[in-house]
Amino acid sequence: MAIADGKFVYVGDEAGAKAYIGKGTQELRYEGGMILPGLGEGHGHVGPGGTEALFTVHLNLFGTLEDHLAAVKEFAEKHPELDVIQGAGFVPTPDMGPDGPTADLLNGVTDKPVVLADMGHHSYWVNHAAMDRLGIDKNTPDVSDGIIVRDAKGNPNGYFREGAMDLLKPLTTFTVEQYKEGFLYYQEEYLAHGETLVLDPIINWDGTDNAAQACHELDVEGKLKMHVYAAYQVFQAEGHDTMAEIEHAAELRERTKGPMFEVSNIKIQLDGGFPGNPSTAYMKDPYTDPWSQEHQYHGQLRLDMETLTAVFKRSHELGFTVHVHAIGDGALAMTLDAIERALAKTGPHDYRDAVTHLQVVDKADIPRMAKLGVVAVTDPHWFDKTPEFDPMIVANIGEERAANQLPMKSFFNAGVVVSSASDYPVINPAYPLVGMQKGVIRQLPGRLDTLHNPGERVTIEQMIEATTINEAYQLLCDDRLGSITVGKEADLVVLGTDITACSPEHIQDAPVFGTMVGGEWVYTCK
Ligand SMILES: [Zn+2]
Repeated sequence: MAIADGKFVYVGDEAGAKAYIGKGTQELRYEGGMILPGLGEGHGHVGPGGTEALFTVHLNLFGTLEDHLAAVKEFAEKHPELDVIQGAGFVPTPDMGPDGPTADLLNGVTDKPVVLADMGHHSYWVNHAAMDRLGIDKNTPDVSDGIIVRDAKGNPNGYFREGAMDLLKPLTTFTVEQYKEGFLYYQEEYLAHGETLVLDPIINWDGTDNAAQACHELDVEGKLKMHVYAAYQVFQAEGHDTMAEIEHAAELRERTKGPMFEVSNIKIQLDGGFPGNPSTAYMKDPYTDPWSQEHQYHGQLRLDMETLTAVFKRSHELGFTVHVHAIGDGALAMTLDAIERALAKTGPHDYRDAVTHLQVVDKADIPRMAKLGVVAVTDPHWFDKTPEFDPMIVANIGEERAANQLPMKSFFNAGVVVSSASDYPVINPAYPLVGMQKGVIRQLPGRLDTLHNPGERVTIEQMIEATTINEAYQLLCDDRLGSITVGKEADLVVLGTDITACSPEHIQDAPVFGTMVGGEWVYTCK
C-alpha cells in the first residue's frame, strides 16, 4: 500500500506501489504478520473509565465486605486531596447482610462522602456523609426509574439503584481537566492495542458536559489521536425533560464537533441488567427477581413506549443515530416497535440505530433487526461463562434462556450488521484482540468450564469485520474509515501474527508492532 497526505493512495501488489516512491518516501516492509484497518470499540465508556482509573478506588469483583472496606480506607488515607471518595467494582455479597450494601457498613471508614458503583454501574453504595452532603433523607421522594432502598423507618439505607443513582450525581462529577487526563490515559493504553475508533456511549455520564468539553479541547489542541464518537444519554424521569435533552445534545454537537470528535448518537437505557440484586432486565416472559423473590417479574423499563418513539423521531429529525441499551428480549422487541412507529412518521432513512448488550434475544426479533437496518452491537468480551455467576443467572431466568444468552452468529446469519464492544470499564482491560478471540472461542483459553453457547461462535473473519468496517458503519464513518481502501484515511494496525492462521486460543497474543491514524504513527513497539 502507499499512503500520502494521511490517506491510502494505493493498495495492491508491490510493483504497483513502486510508482509511488519518490524523494523522502519512507519505505517499510513486513515479512510476516498481518496489517488490519484500525480496530474499533462500539461501546466503551472512555470518560468514566479513564477518570475511574486515575481518580477512584478499584474494588475487587470477587472481594468480601472486609476487602472493600479496607480498600476504601487505604485509598482515602492516600488521597487527602480528594473531597469525595469514589470507587467501583463491588458485587453485593452475603456478608453484607440481608439488606445488601448499606451506609452503616461504611461507618468509621472515612469522614468524607463515599460513593461506590457496583461492577455493572447500575447501583451506588454510599455512606452517611454522602447522603448528608446532598440532604438525602426520609423525605426524599421515590423515583420512577429506579429504587431508593429504605430501612423499616423509611430512611434511605445507602443503596441507590438504576435511576435513583441520579440523586448522587453531584458527588460523582469530574472536572474538564480530569476528563482530559482520563481520555489521554485511555488513548495511550488502547492505541498500543490497535484501537483507533471508539463510541463513548454516555458522554454526559456525570450529568455535565465536562467530558464532551474535554474531548473538544484535546481535539483543538491536536492531542486526540483516536477517533472518538459520543452518545448523549437522555432520560424520562423526575427532573428530566427528554425532548429538551435531545435539543441540548444537538447544541452540544455543534459546539464541540471537530476532526476527531463528534456527539453523533442519542443514548437510551431502556432496561437494566442481571444477574443482580435485584435484576432489572426487561423480559418478554417472567423471571425470578432474586431481591423480592417475585416469580412473575418482567423487569424494569426506564422509558414508556410513547416517549421512546418520540425520542427516535426527534433524534432522526436532528440527524442523530439512536443507541439503545437492551439486555432483555422484551427491551429489544419494544425498541424495534418504537423504531417502526418512528419511521412510519419520518420515512425510511439511513439512521443506523443500534442496540447493544443483547443478552437475551428472542430469535423472532433478529429478522426484524435486519429489515429495519438496526446494528447489533454485541459484547464478545462477555461471551465466556463466569462459573461464579452462572448459578445466579440460571436461578434468575432458568436453564434455557441462560444457555442461549449473548448470540452473535445468529445476527450474521440473518444479515444484520454486527459490531463489537466491551462496555469498558465494566470489562477492564478490554483490548480488541481479546474480544476477537472470545467471539471465536467463547471461553477462556484452556478452560472448558467457561465455554458458553458454542453454537454462536463466529469465525475470525467475522470478528475482523465486526471490529473494523462494521464499527465504522455503526458510527456512520465507513465512507472514510474502517477499511484499507484507496481514498480512506490511513488508520491501520500492524500485527506480528496472522490471526486468521494462528490457533484461535492465541489470537489475543498477537503482538502489536504499530498503530497508525491518518497516516501518522501514533504507537510503535519499542
Ligand atoms: Zn454501557
